[in-house]
Amino acid sequence: MDTNNKQNNPVYSRNDSTQVNLTDEEWKKILPKDVYAIARQKGTERPGSSPFEHSHEIGTFYCAVCGNALFRSDTKFESGCGWPSFYEPISRGSIIYAADHGYGMDRTEVMCGRCKSHLGHVFNDGPAPTGLRYCINGVVLDFDKAQDAEKSYNEKDK
Ligand SMILES: [Zn+2]
Repeated sequence: MDTNNKQNNPVYSRNDSTQVNLTDEEWKKILPKDVYAIARQKGTERPGSSPFEHSHEIGTFYCAVCGNALFRSDTKFESGCGWPSFYEPISRGSIIYAADHGYGMDRTEVMCGRCKSHLGHVFNDGPAPTGLRYCINGVVLDFDKAQDAEKSYNEKDK
């Protein structure tokens, strides 16, 4: 099913880093409903609903909208907040920030650096070394298991 979604999504790419600028109407046609609601309408998934929250697999998290690399699994931690949490993005440009004063709160919104999709928020109560907690909606994340890590695990099992 995931594969079908991506086949219908002409902007999804793991190696094209050019900015993506589509209208809401265009996004609506390309994205699955749940992804659209969060990525383009700044929605929030139900806490505890993402299978990524407690995942300990080794690999890379990508933007589910455009394929931009966002976080490495070794910067993921158990925050207990109900959403997948990371303390550091994969690179400086992978994420962009905006002040969010919605719902009577002063928060910092985080968006994908390539397609400007809403991902979640960043807070100052994370662990060392950054002290940051990127609280991200799992619906807008794509995970790819590290192939090498997988291989070495299998070797050990033999
Ligand atoms: Zn993106």
